[in-house]
Amino acid sequence: MRKPMCIGVTGGIGSGKSIVCKIFNALDVLSYDADSRAKIILNTDEVLKEQIKDEFGPFAYDEDGKLNRGHISKMAFSMPEKLARLNQLVHPRVTADFVTWTDEHHSHHYLIKEAALMFETGSYKELDKVILVSAPQSLRIERVLARDPYRTEADLQKIMANQMSEEEKMKRADFVIVNDESELLIPQVLRLHDLFSNMEITG
Ligand code: ATP
Repeated sequence: MRKPMCIGVTGGIGSGKSIVCKIFNALDVLSYDADSRAKIILNTDEVLKEQIKDEFGPFAYDEDGKLNRGHISKMAFSMPEKLARLNQLVHPRVTADFVTWTDEHHSHHYLIKEAALMFETGSYKELDKVILVSAPQSLRIERVLARDPYRTEADLQKIMANQMSEEEKMKRADFVIVNDESELLIPQVLRLHDLFSNMEITG
């Protein structure tokens, strides 16, 4: 079976990954939202659910079998080893799900995988190229607080502390989309779309 080229879109919380993917979608490029898929998998994969309960205790899931996000977040963000373990358990499941998804869409020239953690989890190795969406921390905080009124700045600082710095991600990315209001997003995405559409698929 022909394999489409897989392009990663990553960036810190609130950097604009989803908005960038929506622009690609408008160009008929399909995107896989790894963070949303992970939430679904965490509620539906029975083997994974058992592993999570072993790691986080019986309160990891409520009576309806739904993930107790508050309990998990509290433990994961106060104990770094728990966060690492959570990622270790979830990451292979999402990777397998992504492979199934790419097979379902094998006729496309290229596909996008969107994930906040890509360099941190090593999932960038499964991708042909990675785009970093970059914006300063203060602007990201401002945007997320406007988007998610239930979050506090302290919550965001905790999440950001577990994400690689912009400088480190910049060094690792193949392309950078600047989303700091100094440049328009659409022309940046159009340039990359043009490039990827004309790129040979290797491997
Ligand atoms: P998360 O990591 O939480 O999934 P994200 O990286 O996907 O976030 P978005 O949801 O795309 O980020 O953007 C965060 C918020 O900022 C959204 O409400 C989005 O509409 C807004 N936003 C992003 N970029 C811009 C921009 N260039 N101009 C105006 N608003 C923007």
